[in-house]
Amino acid sequence: MDWSDAMTYELRVTDTFDSAHFLPGHEKCGKMHGHTYRIELFITGKRLLEDVGENKSCMLIDFKRLKEVMASLITKFDHQVLNEVFDDVPTAENLARYCYYYLKKVIETKYHMKEIQVARVRIWEGLNSYCDFYETNT
Ligand SMILES: [Zn+2]
Repeated sequence: MDWSDAMTYELRVTDTFDSAHFLPGHEKCGKMHGHTYRIELFITGKRLLEDVGENKSCMLIDFKRLKEVMASLITKFDHQVLNEVFDDVPTAENLARYCYYYLKKVIETKYHMKEIQVARVRIWEGLNSYCDFYETNT
């Protein structure tokens, strides 16, 4: 297939985990409570695997690979007290940043894929609130 820089594909995989946490010193969130978190991983790229000569899959990267990487992250947090397994204050912001760099590192080192970018990680804390983390060029 012909490709051009004007074309971009974006993939998104999502999963959930249930965790408890508390935010020390916070008026409401200082008490231990729980959330169902949703994590969304956004991957972008301009060329499919077949375009870079890897195979004829017609994919940017197999969803299965992304789900495996996500699963390795979620097992760290699921049914845990985040304050015990996370080195920083477990806000949505800190979780999103940590998950972004974790997923980026694993995807880059495991799959050696220069053609795709980890564009964004979104952490939903419950149904109504989320934090996005991504890198900007500036
Ligand atoms: Zn909370």
